[in-house]
Amino acid sequence: MEERKEHYKRTLLDLANRKDLVPGIYNYCDRWCDRCTMTQKCLTYLHEQENKIDEDSQNPDEENKNFWEQIRLAWEVTMEMIEEDADKEGIDLSDVEDFELPEHIETPLEVQARDYGINIHKWMKDHKDLFSDKAEKLVMIDDDESMFKYRDAAEVIQWYSAFIGAKVHRAHLELEQRKNDPNDEYGLYADNLGSAKIAIIAIKRSMDALSVFYSGFSEMEDEILQFLLELSQIKKQMLKTFPGVMEFKRPGFDD
Ligand code: SF4
Repeated sequence: MEERKEHYKRTLLDLANRKDLVPGIYNYCDRWCDRCTMTQKCLTYLHEQENKIDEDSQNPDEENKNFWEQIRLAWEVTMEMIEEDADKEGIDLSDVEDFELPEHIETPLEVQARDYGINIHKWMKDHKDLFSDKAEKLVMIDDDESMFKYRDAAEVIQWYSAFIGAKVHRAHLELEQRKNDPNDEYGLYADNLGSAKIAIIAIKRSMDALSVFYSGFSEMEDEILQFLLELSQIKKQMLKTFPGVMEFKRPGFDD
């Protein structure tokens, strides 16, 4: 375990020194590394690759054990590094004042975005058989192009289903205080904007993907239209809540 921890820490520090990586690129991406065009610029991705354990797909218990070990490793190394930095700065971490986290009251928009995720996920699950039937028919008539089109669209809808709600929520954290803080010493409002922007991008992509289904599954037109309407409302409200959000530059993606 110690050896793995050392490797984890060393590879992290080595990557942090690389000048060809884009600092903070992973902060406002969509975490879809398998589809990302910037993997070679991303410390998070490269570090995960360096520390990947060859998984035995036949043994889910072993796979899960590795998963939890990786999480523990990440926490331990992060804590160690924080303690080392604090030590250098002469800060005693056990001597911090008590403070209360501000209470967050969910806005209707956050609720709507979260509910969209739950509903679309359920809808995809409920119609699994119908999608499979359609795929089979397309295979029978050798229409690979359409089959891949629906498969890709389904993948996009599913990937962003929970992501949208999570990012809309993050974008609203301490929003008023940060937005109206004239000093914003630590640039905290940027986190709201970055989260809002990637949420909007995810909404647009989900709408495009839903449109693919809309044109191919006439029997589900009404339901798809309802989802499109919800996403469109969320997007509109996000653009209103975060004026100028699309001008925000996400490191690596919008430079
Ligand atoms: S920037 Fe790309 S590679 Fe890095 S965490 Fe985000 S999606 Fe994954």
